[in-house]
Amino acid sequence: MSDPDRTTSLEAFARDHLARLDETSLRRHLVPTMRGPQAAATRQGRSLVSFSCNDYLGLSQDPRVIAAAQAATALYGTGAGASRLVTGSHPPLAALEERLATHKGTEAALVFGSGYLANLGIVSGLAGPRDLILVDALGHSCLWAGARLSGAKVLRFAHNDLGDLEALLTKHRSRHQHALILTERVYSMDGDRGPIADILHLADAHDAWTLVDDAHGLGVIGKDARAPLEMGTLSKTLGSYGGYLCASRAVVDLMTSRARSFVYTTGLPPASAAAALAALDIVEAEPDFAARPLALARRFTAQLGLPEAQSPIVPILVGEADAALGLSAALEEQGYLVVAIRPPTVPAGTARLRVAFSAAHTEAQVEGLAEAVMGQWPRTLPPLRERVRETY
Ligand code: PMP
Repeated sequence: MSDPDRTTSLEAFARDHLARLDETSLRRHLVPTMRGPQAAATRQGRSLVSFSCNDYLGLSQDPRVIAAAQAATALYGTGAGASRLVTGSHPPLAALEERLATHKGTEAALVFGSGYLANLGIVSGLAGPRDLILVDALGHSCLWAGARLSGAKVLRFAHNDLGDLEALLTKHRSRHQHALILTERVYSMDGDRGPIADILHLADAHDAWTLVDDAHGLGVIGKDARAPLEMGTLSKTLGSYGGYLCASRAVVDLMTSRARSFVYTTGLPPASAAAALAALDIVEAEPDFAARPLALARRFTAQLGLPEAQSPIVPILVGEADAALGLSAALEEQGYLVVAIRPPTVPAGTARLRVAFSAAHTEAQVEGLAEAVMGQWPRTLPPLRERVRETY
């Protein structure tokens, strides 16, 4: 029996680190949240309008999507029962892969357990120690994790900076067998867009491959150049859970055998695949509805005098973590849920409110939030209009 009064080194380690996180307002807490239709969220007994969901079309609450998930569960059960390569490739997964490939205009698609798992497996499955990976400085954690897992030489290029990317390719490309560029169509914490067409052009010139993470773009951003490797998630616009790769038949077949985060994990539940499939039907059938979150984001940026939104995500830079938490709490008092995003999710000194717009919001809610942000903006901070994302 261990002595309950004895502080083990493990306990001391955990408490020490938690104390340091508390000191810098960087400790995370789970807050039980019940979501509902029309961007509703209930937290600690309070009814709020959520501007912190990635459910850009509200499809996780759509009766048609819910019915598809229920029907698939009734037909195929609650779980896939095994990894994809054993017996976990159930019919909704095959149907979803075919539809994703058609949607993206690629020969094939492969569904992974999540977007995070997809990037881990794709990047480490394509690149190895003799290769070079170039990652945008604001690339998502899972792009970096996949790059590091691969054992390749990993270099960061300044965010969306084609000159920096070109300089790195010119200097380092020839010393490596393959080169892989990792970028995003929409940057998750800044809402700006990657210059995909220009990156593809540079990649061609330097014999490099390009992977675009389209987690936040699928369905809600207009036409854009397509990369040979397009990955994304089923958990945002498609209102479900899971990740995918759209690519050529050969690349998809290779990943099926080689991406470890695909091979050694259980397939998605039938309900998740069927829900994503039903959501994709809606995205394709209702383009005006799919354009709504971006239109609302633009209404919001116009009202606040911020640069025009490029996506349904609008960052409001605050600076220090405690100030961002304070502003978030003040907005919550007025009925708006806008969660503060702090380091290490974003660079130090750039804590922010990340406002995510959904087709489920009304114009009145968007205007109400803009007024609340103006009203609650701390007098101690420089004016809101100057809080545009600086290049970092
Ligand atoms: N890429 C980006 C850009 C993301 O924002 C996220 C999720 N936040 C992911 C990948 C991971 O997707 P998932 O949530 O499906 O693991």
